[in-house]
This record gives sequence, C-alpha cells and structure tokens, in this order.
Amino acid sequence: MSKKRFIAGATCPACQSADTLRWWQEHHVEVVECVSCGHSDRRSPVASDTSTSEPTEQDAQVIGIFKPQ
Ligand SMILES: [Zn+2]
Repeated sequence: MSKKRFIAGATCPACQSADTLRWWQEHHVEVVECVSCGHSDRRSPVASDTSTSEPTEQDAQVIGIFKPQ
C-alpha cells in the first residue's frame, strides 16, 4: 500500500516550490517526492531496538522537509 499525501506548507529543497511535496511509506521507509521537479528523498525508519545507526546527511535533509512550517 502506498497512500501518497501532500505535505502542507512544505517547500521543495531542490526547486523551492511550495506545496509540491508529497510523501508516502514504502516498506516502512518514508519517501518524499516533489511533483514539480521530480526531486525525491527517503528517510529510513528509526529503529526502536537498534542504537548503532547514526543520522546521515540525507536524514537531516528529510527531517528539514518534515518541519511543520
Ligand atoms: Zn521540486
């Protein structure tokens, strides 16, 4: 199942367009895609019982996208 939702108020980091980002889950990975320029990014889920994974640069970018404002 992949229900795609637009992220209200989000701005694409690639083309700076507002309200063009949509996201959905793919095998428990959150995927973000810009419908304007085709930019896409994905965020690995936070493992609850694993403390070895470190946040990557890509993770930081996606977290930025997901900021409420
Ligand atoms: Zn874009």
